[in-house]
Amino acid sequence: MAELKADVLVLGAGMVGVGAALHLQQRGRDVILVDRHGLAGEETSFGNAGLIESASVFPYMFPRDFGQILQYAMNRSPQVRYRFSDLPFSLPWLLRYFLASSPDRALHSAMAGLPLIRRSLIEHEALIAEAQVPELLRKTGWLKLFRSDASLANAARDIERARQYGIEGEVLDGKAIAAREPNLTGEFTGAIYLPAPGFVPDPGALAKAYAALFRRKGGRVLVGDARTLEQDAGRWRVSGPEGGMVARDVVVALGPWSDLVFGPLGYSIPLGIKRGYHLHLAPRGNAVLNHPVLDFDLGFLLAPMNRGIRLTTGVEFARRDAPFTPVQIEQALPRARALFPLGEAVDAKPWMGARPCLPDMLPVIGKAPRHAGLWFDFGHQHHGLTLGPATGRLLAEMMTGETPFADPAPFAATRFG
Ligand SMILES: Cc1cc2nc3c(=O)[nH]c(=O)nc-3n(C[C@H](O)[C@H](O)[C@H](O)COP(=O)(O)OP(=O)(O)OC[C@H]3O[C@@H](n4cnc5c(N)ncnc54)[C@H](O)[C@@H]3O)c2cc1C
Repeated sequence: MAELKADVLVLGAGMVGVGAALHLQQRGRDVILVDRHGLAGEETSFGNAGLIESASVFPYMFPRDFGQILQYAMNRSPQVRYRFSDLPFSLPWLLRYFLASSPDRALHSAMAGLPLIRRSLIEHEALIAEAQVPELLRKTGWLKLFRSDASLANAARDIERARQYGIEGEVLDGKAIAAREPNLTGEFTGAIYLPAPGFVPDPGALAKAYAALFRRKGGRVLVGDARTLEQDAGRWRVSGPEGGMVARDVVVALGPWSDLVFGPLGYSIPLGIKRGYHLHLAPRGNAVLNHPVLDFDLGFLLAPMNRGIRLTTGVEFARRDAPFTPVQIEQALPRARALFPLGEAVDAKPWMGARPCLPDMLPVIGKAPRHAGLWFDFGHQHHGLTLGPATGRLLAEMMTGETPFADPAPFAATRFG
């Protein structure tokens, strides 16, 4: 079979891989985007909550509050659940996550990630304009609802801290919540409205629209299995049903599956997994949800997607490939129905995905330390939709010798020793 040649193979066509492929292409590189599906946006980048979280200065770190840790330990928190049988697998990673969440280290992560967060919506807006899909970005901002004084006070404090980095947030009382979302019912102590973040009503379609743009500009999206990656005579090669694909450079952008490639190459990078679920439901009657709405204390989010109202859950600590356990969807469903008039489920069963996370909640971006031509772009945790195009720019700038727009040092794979 013929061998296809390119300058770069990008492995993984989620939002992260597509973002990298487009930025490399813009810089004159001939790129093949390789995915086991041969299509973009079929996995984690399909199922997320659709938020371009350009206001999310402080990443989701391990809590330091004893009461909250106790709730997690007893598996009583609606926001976080763990699979008991997977604890031996999850605990070492959770310990690293806890250590990386000290106030100093959490601030380091926030400051390192800030240039990416600031760039996130700008990059999406440019690509959305070029891909001609303005309907896939809604500038509604989003709402976080609080049912306890303590959680509202914490969130209001975070907004005050974020203000120094240019983030706007408004504290709403019950009347202001009702004015924004007349169909919500519940006892809220208040809400935070974040006006700047974008909302994508079909995240899978956005990844596909970006991949279509990449193809229109001469890029190839092909089926291949990243696990076949091998280095031979200074070239990287992967195999697919159409034959081999070779290039001098290869980018690992496999999200939660990235370990299947970096592991066999001898890299010990602590990639962890936070699983999450979604289910679409039809709104009842003429009920309309104007923004994505997080019910913070009850641990779920409702987002007005094109397919229906997408109910997404918090975090499940489990092995990536452990059996599907949509307990959080079952717990959230009656609470979601009490919050907003929801009818029948649109999906036959919930969807499950895995947020790829490093303990410091920063992605790994840049050159692999021990292999020429091997590059990493994975671990985008809760913010892969948000950051895919911005980290794609950073990686492409590094690969083509441009001055990177952000300091790449905090994202180096070598930070794990
Ligand atoms: C419930 C939930 C809600 C979320 N909400 C948000 C949100 O609102 N905003 C936000 O910014 N982020 C959110 N996220 C996080 C975000 O979805 C992820 O960070 C992001 O999708 C990761 O993108 P990725 O491209 O790295 O991975 P993926 O999208 O998973 O892409 C990886 C690709 O690799 C391919 N692949 C895997 N194995 C192989 C192989 N052997 N060979 C070839 N290809 C392979 C897969 O087919 C896939 O296409 C959420 C995540 C979850 C689970």
